[in-house]
Amino acid sequence: MGISGEHFDVIIVGAGVMGSSTAYETARRGLKTLLLEQYDFLHHRGSSHGETRTIRATYPQDYYYPMVIESYKLWQEAEAQVGYKVYFEAHHFDMGQPDDPSLQALIASCRKHSIPHQILRRDQVAEKFSGRFNIPDDWVGVSNALGGVIKPTKATAMFQTLAFRNGAVLKDNAEVVDIERDHNARGGVTVTTARGETFRGKKCVVTVGAWMKKLVKAVSGIELPIQPLETHVLYWRIKPGHEAKYAIGGDFPTFASYGKMYVYGTPTLEYPGLIKVAVHGGNPCDPDKRPWGSGIMVDELKKWVERTFSGMVDSSEPVVKQACMYSMTPTEDFVIDFLGGKFGKDVVVGGGFSGHGFKMAPVIGRILADLAADGEAKGVDISHFRIGRFVRISRM
Ligand SMILES: Cc1cc2nc3c(=O)[nH]c(=O)nc-3n(C[C@H](O)[C@H](O)[C@H](O)COP(=O)(O)OP(=O)(O)OC[C@H]3O[C@@H](n4cnc5c(N)ncnc54)[C@H](O)[C@@H]3O)c2cc1C
Repeated sequence: MGISGEHFDVIIVGAGVMGSSTAYETARRGLKTLLLEQYDFLHHRGSSHGETRTIRATYPQDYYYPMVIESYKLWQEAEAQVGYKVYFEAHHFDMGQPDDPSLQALIASCRKHSIPHQILRRDQVAEKFSGRFNIPDDWVGVSNALGGVIKPTKATAMFQTLAFRNGAVLKDNAEVVDIERDHNARGGVTVTTARGETFRGKKCVVTVGAWMKKLVKAVSGIELPIQPLETHVLYWRIKPGHEAKYAIGGDFPTFASYGKMYVYGTPTLEYPGLIKVAVHGGNPCDPDKRPWGSGIMVDELKKWVERTFSGMVDSSEPVVKQACMYSMTPTEDFVIDFLGGKFGKDVVVGGGFSGHGFKMAPVIGRILADLAADGEAKGVDISHFRIGRFVRISRM
């Protein structure tokens, strides 16, 4: 049955985790919702596929803290709706030089929000983790209970399932090539796909990840400084006899290391005997002409793995490598706003998640739905995510 030509309350373009969580939010509010995806649902060419994402409450930028806390609650509510788990509990451990500005800022954020945490010297870190973390002499570690792991492909599928159950129409292999303003008294937009189908929507939410800059420029002329990067998740083999020490469900945490490179990782969950350790960042790319390259700073990361895990993890080569894309903004802060221009408040954009958005997908879906349905985001300060900040940056 064709749906081309149909009218919707909200059309969401892009079915990664952000578009899928938004579709769930709008559908459960009773809004007639259409979710369009250019490729197959749950494909591996964007940012939301794979096996694990870290969730942590320690953020150098304090304004993410309330969003993460709301997300913990919303992840568990969505799990209860669907009936399976996508979130797995763990503690979190940050490490770096005590005068590192990011580490100082996240400690200040812990204090401000009364997050129970321990600041540990090198010897105390070695004792707490029985040698599983070995940090440099002049570094400190910050341990707290608010970490965890989300399963990304499964979580994206969960939101799609919940959106569908709440009445949303989901359509894949539907690349949006145009979004036009409707010039009638009621406003709204017409969305056109590469196959020539058109859909009318009172509102449109654009959540196209690494394609954001291209699509927004094409439909509005507005240039958003969102740079796609190709990045890699790497898995390393834990040496025989030590595997259980790194497994989720014990006391091994999710972690982040604030040094010359930002290194992050998760306890063993998806591949028994392997641990995920990767570098935040990547190589600039065109999302439609991916280099499928070899990754960044792999030699430095090998040394980091060798030193940090006291030789208990084989640092000679990663044994599994998965490519993915980031959508980076100049400040690594998200873009959540009305597109403006000829679209006014009828088109909302959610992008630029800069390699750290997954954990907050449920709250981002809630905020994008608020903007589309009510014209404002409730209970959250989105001033850091406004498009206007780029205008200010470019004038400086
Ligand atoms: C390797 C890696 C590790 C990460 N680790 C973490 C982490 O530990 N913690 C964390 O919080 N976050 C992490 N992130 C970030 C997080 O995964 C992303 O912020 C999030 O997945 C972004 O989702 P999205 O929906 O914006 O983008 P995407 O998942 O890319 O979804 C956008 C969708 O839009 C579709 N699309 C594009 N153009 C069109 C069009 N014209 N018409 C229709 N559809 C279109 C695309 O095909 C795609 O499916 C990581 C990201 C990567 C890549």
